[in-house]
Amino acid sequence: MLGYVIDYRNLVGGALVPAADGRTLDSVNPATGRVWARVPRSGPADAEAAVAAARAAFPSWSALPAPGRARYLREVAAVFTRHAGELARLETTDNGRILRDTLKRDLPGMAYLWELAAGQCLDAVKGDTVILGPDMLGFTRREPYGVALCVIPWNSPISTFSAKAAYALAAGNTVIVKPAEQASVSVLRLGELLAEVLPPGVLNLVSGLGEEAGAALVRHPGVGKISLTGSTETGLAITRAAGIKPLTFELGGKSPNIVFSDADLDRAIGGLTTESVFTGNAGQVCVAGSRILIHRPIWEETLDRITAVARAVVLGDPLDLATTMGPIVSAAQHERVVSYLALAEKEGAELVFGGQSGAAAVPGLPDGHWVAPTLFTTEDNSLRVCQEEIFGPVAVAIPFDTDEQALSIANDSPYGLAAGVWTRDLARAHRFVRDLRTGTVWVNTYRRMPPGLPFGGVKDSGYGHDAVLEYTREKAAIIQT
Ligand code: NAD
Repeated sequence: MLGYVIDYRNLVGGALVPAADGRTLDSVNPATGRVWARVPRSGPADAEAAVAAARAAFPSWSALPAPGRARYLREVAAVFTRHAGELARLETTDNGRILRDTLKRDLPGMAYLWELAAGQCLDAVKGDTVILGPDMLGFTRREPYGVALCVIPWNSPISTFSAKAAYALAAGNTVIVKPAEQASVSVLRLGELLAEVLPPGVLNLVSGLGEEAGAALVRHPGVGKISLTGSTETGLAITRAAGIKPLTFELGGKSPNIVFSDADLDRAIGGLTTESVFTGNAGQVCVAGSRILIHRPIWEETLDRITAVARAVVLGDPLDLATTMGPIVSAAQHERVVSYLALAEKEGAELVFGGQSGAAAVPGLPDGHWVAPTLFTTEDNSLRVCQEEIFGPVAVAIPFDTDEQALSIANDSPYGLAAGVWTRDLARAHRFVRDLRTGTVWVNTYRRMPPGLPFGGVKDSGYGHDAVLEYTREKAAIIQT
């Protein structure tokens, strides 16, 4: 345990700087409840400086031919490889996502993602040609938007930072990233490392509160494009404040994970539990399959097996590689999750296991923000615990009798981020892929988000997805000779 607090700074125009007025925010280690780092609490002056720096860097960055930009992105990829261990530990300390995940799952994918984006720099400058007549030519030009603002959440800062910044930069935009106030440290440390790699102003990092730094950046007329990964409420706030700016929204979810009686249950059980809602970051996963829909013939057996997996979960110090589930990120989020435990009981859902929080969830550990894996059952998908995103290790199991009923319950949600289907019936699998109103459908697997496939939602889960072309606009040219 560190006996001191580390200070991090913004990256603006290639310089590491505190907030203009010197204000800071404490970053709390969610496993201990103690302040371990301080980050800038930026405001409008910092937003102004970041936009000015990004605008100043835009002409030369966007004029670089694709291979030139690709060379820089490959150097960024190398930073992830060299500093994987350090970045993983920082992120785990900051947001509580277990080291097993940050070190072995998230960081190894980052170098690959930046290499992939480097390879796509050329796609961002390709257009179409249309012969309009013997003496008339039409063609399209893809152009970057200018300054792209990437607003990211706390649950996987480095992964979300990369999924946005790599493609925005590949397309020729300069970038400002606003990390989440609960967990900015891994991204600000990246700023220190990338200041040595990228030209000044090409990448800028501004930490602070959503309603202060975030709002100032969103409404700034110098920002040309915004991509948010965050809650539906923040998506609505940005829609209202941004003015006419192109938006990409990857928002919340309440994903159904549907298991049929013909499924290979041995294979399904991990996908229904530790790969889904009882994850290393305690179900704080946008695609958590927090509604588990179970075919009635296998209801009892599936509940028993889920219970057995949940009992084996090791809740505790996220830096310990033996731990399989960490804490909830902040006191406020902990309170929110705990309030849903009380609500579920009030609404008449039946508790199968879990329900403990705070010290009762992990006796003997420091007073972090703990919630035990928890499962309720109900027949009523209209309960608030079935309709609202809890963002914690809390699932509700709902039985169904027919395919039609499963589909109807699955689609009865304001959200449409992802869904899982477990079946050996190929025709049923294809029907569900077609009929589920979600951005992603996994069949006989869960939570696979490989770069190269679009990842986004429908309905209240947002629209668009982070990819190189999403950070470009098309211009049409018609030339009469
Ligand atoms: P959040 O919406 O509270 O915050 C996300 C980011 O938006 C933060 O950086 C925050 O400071 C900023 N922000 C908040 N208000 C703002 C405003 N008015 N203007 C500009 N910026 C503002 O979300 P969170 O609590 O950090 O993360 C949890 C949410 O994110 C959940 O709903 C989860 O489902 C969602 N999420 C979605 C995905 C996805 O890909 N669909 C992935 C991870 C998390």
